[in-house]
Amino acid sequence: MIILMQFGATQAQIDAVCDAIRQHQVEPLVLPGEDRLAIGIPAALSAEQKDHIEASLNALDGVSKITHTSRPYKLASLEFHRAKTTVDVKGVKFGPGYFVIIGGPCSIESYEQFSKSARLVKAAGAKVLRGGAFKPRTSPYSFQGLAEEGLKIMKQVGEETGLVTISEVMSGDMVSLVAQYVDILQIGARSMQNFPLLIEAAKSGKPIFLKRSPSATIDEFLLAAEYLLNYGNKNVILCERGIVPLDRSYTRNTLDLASVPVLKEHTHLPVVVDPSHGTGVSKYVAPMAKAAMMAGADGLMIEMHPDPAAALSDGSQSLTPEQFSCLMDDLRTLSGYCGLKM
Ligand code: PEP
Ligand code: MN
Repeated sequence: MIILMQFGATQAQIDAVCDAIRQHQVEPLVLPGEDRLAIGIPAALSAEQKDHIEASLNALDGVSKITHTSRPYKLASLEFHRAKTTVDVKGVKFGPGYFVIIGGPCSIESYEQFSKSARLVKAAGAKVLRGGAFKPRTSPYSFQGLAEEGLKIMKQVGEETGLVTISEVMSGDMVSLVAQYVDILQIGARSMQNFPLLIEAAKSGKPIFLKRSPSATIDEFLLAAEYLLNYGNKNVILCERGIVPLDRSYTRNTLDLASVPVLKEHTHLPVVVDPSHGTGVSKYVAPMAKAAMMAGADGLMIEMHPDPAAALSDGSQSLTPEQFSCLMDDLRTLSGYCGLKM
């Protein structure tokens, strides 16, 4: 529910509306606007509660209009937060006017492999370095990642190159460990609705990169983001990484690029696209990466490996250094047309 105040409403009138809302055991959220102030109620209200609140507010001075928000998420919505969010991580900006490339291998395999990857993605123009230390693998027999050893490598390589770093955290009890080593915490697609993890990650104060579950609706995705915001973490970046495909014989997932303009319409949070996991096939990564920029994304997460054939995970979707660098050149050209800073 959003209460739009009249133009020039006084502080006393605003306070009276907030007090009246608190009488219903819900906390108001003051939303300053360009010319008029609004007051939101970021809570899921029953029809009966809505009626009661509306009746008590309608009579108050200074109230112009009461509207009901149609979506279950509040803090993540553009209705409640009318300016687009820019997430600034050590000067790398995810938000309007920017296009950020996150590059690197699926997994951190060794210092040599990772530092070589970092130097290659940096030389090609990427600002953020990815690499998994804790890997969510479908099979328990697949490479599980180097764990804390991998995080140490990431921290060292991040310092050596000056790149911002991002790595996945898979459980709530690992948040403080991972947060010691990386700049951005990644919540993987399989963990999008691991609510205790979301809460711990939010409380860490680190910027969070939230990947969409392959089976999540837009509402479920934004409600997962709502958890992070509700626990006081405003630095949330969304990532579309593909949903369950109709036919796995061609692609690993179906990259839902339509989610980009949809998310842009309904949330103020930046949206990044991952065409690597989104397609699972290296030759499809570049066309989908370019399409993502045209769809309005704020950046890309792309897997690149110095030698994809030898990669311990996701080699088939990883670009070679040459392919990565070539894609970066194309993206730079396109970013000029779009007025985006890369
Ligand atoms: C990853 O980015 O390393 C990863 C495992 O991706 P997702 O969670 O999207 O499958
Ligand atoms: Mn991967």
